[in-house]
Amino acid sequence: MEHALGTVARPLRVAIIGAGPAGFYAAEALLKQPSLTVSIDIFNHFPYPYGLVRDGVAPDHQSIKAVTRVYDKILQDPRVRYFGNVTFGSDITRDEILRLYDQVVYAVGAQSDRHMDIPGEDLDGSFPATIFVGWYNGHPDYADLDFDLSGERAVVIGVGNVAVDVARILVRDPDELAATDISDVALERLRHSKIREVVILGRRGPAQAAFTSQELKEFGELKGVNVIVDPADLQLDPDSQEMLANDRVAARNVDLLRGYATHISHDRPRTLRIRFLVSPVELISDQLGSVKAVRIERNRLEKNRQGKLLSRGIGEYEVLPATLVLRSVGYRSVPLRGVPFDDTTYTIMNIGGRVVDPHDTEPLPGEYVVGWAKRGPNGIIGTNKPDAVATVQAMLADAPTLLGVSDDNRDPARVDALLQAKGIDYVSFEDWQVLDRHETERGLKTGRPRVKVTSVPEMLAVIRGQATT
Ligand code: NAP
Repeated sequence: MEHALGTVARPLRVAIIGAGPAGFYAAEALLKQPSLTVSIDIFNHFPYPYGLVRDGVAPDHQSIKAVTRVYDKILQDPRVRYFGNVTFGSDITRDEILRLYDQVVYAVGAQSDRHMDIPGEDLDGSFPATIFVGWYNGHPDYADLDFDLSGERAVVIGVGNVAVDVARILVRDPDELAATDISDVALERLRHSKIREVVILGRRGPAQAAFTSQELKEFGELKGVNVIVDPADLQLDPDSQEMLANDRVAARNVDLLRGYATHISHDRPRTLRIRFLVSPVELISDQLGSVKAVRIERNRLEKNRQGKLLSRGIGEYEVLPATLVLRSVGYRSVPLRGVPFDDTTYTIMNIGGRVVDPHDTEPLPGEYVVGWAKRGPNGIIGTNKPDAVATVQAMLADAPTLLGVSDDNRDPARVDALLQAKGIDYVSFEDWQVLDRHETERGLKTGRPRVKVTSVPEMLAVIRGQATT
């Protein structure tokens, strides 16, 4: 008789695609099952792990990055192997994964940005905030970009925590940033930045802002920065007023904003201005095709049928000169080759974490999803924990019903053999530790937590002991 999956005789073989928070919390939930024998392989596009903890969390928020210690413990578990520098869809395909693993968990996050669909959105000088974040964090795809910070004003569109991050980095004293792991290129650019004012635009009112209070409060603590809010923007309509009674974060946000509106300073070298009930309707070009201004329209709030307060333009316009525009209107997942994708929600098609067939919405045996690819780009790092636990519960419930992969494909060495046969230069956890030590030792010399290596070939050279610096 065949042994059941998840037993010593037939350990449950799980592949996790993506080494960000959601993937790690899925691994953790599996490892914690007392009566499950499991063996987990985590695949990751870049050589280094941690996803947005390394590439997204702002460099001046090092305490948040400390969560990687929890992830390291997972990677040190003998039941877990790490395969960095392996891209799903090309280096290893869905068919190969399904042949080698009983279950697969897609934990790929959201790699792209949402669009606003307004004229001029793609002018030079207008960028998704996600790219700017990647740039200052030394993300290999964006580290070499050149942001022109020679103008006096930048506009940040959106009032979520990413908007708060990019605005703060633009006005923060570069000497303070120098003590972080911000990329060297970004630090140098920011040292010579001429930007004196950053204007953050919220399309709805202050009670509907998406940022969290701790992040908003930090604005008031920035050295050399005026924080300006027009008291008129804080006049609440009755619906918003009512919202505050039931939403503690919104109430705290409005309190903080009122504080900024009353204690105004104008004498500091840089200014953060937060505005509400305005939408950009066009980015205006100079003669060379670069952005020179943002045309904005005033809004009022209007309830839709579901009772949600939405913004609606009232036909009053204003032109706001700016030479840098960062569109911080949310991340967006991109499809994975061969995996059903919902083009309306930009998530992997799933019901409660089980990937489903697009034709009949029946679960595809052994395929699961966690994190932003499952529920959309919302929540903080910790939100991914209960999200992953829920998916793992579905995986455990399904395990007894699965056929599982054939015995001759169960040997973990098969995975190495496959990647080696394809010539993939994959990176183990021990390899990553070599790069990690290299970066932190470089940081030690200059009093920084680390100095990141920002190109994949250079990362591999460090790992293989072939680096020249
Ligand atoms: P977000 O929280 O969804 O905020 C997006 C913002 O863009 C909202 O203010 C939204 O306004 C606005 N927006 C969307 N479409 C727009 C349009 N066409 N025109 C103008 N404004 C538009 O997204 P995010 O800031 O990218 O953050 C993603 C997630 O990561 C969030 O859950 C966030 O809390 C988290 N995060 C956390 C931290 C932290 O904990 N420190 C740091 C960074 C990110 P509406 O509300 O009107 O749609």
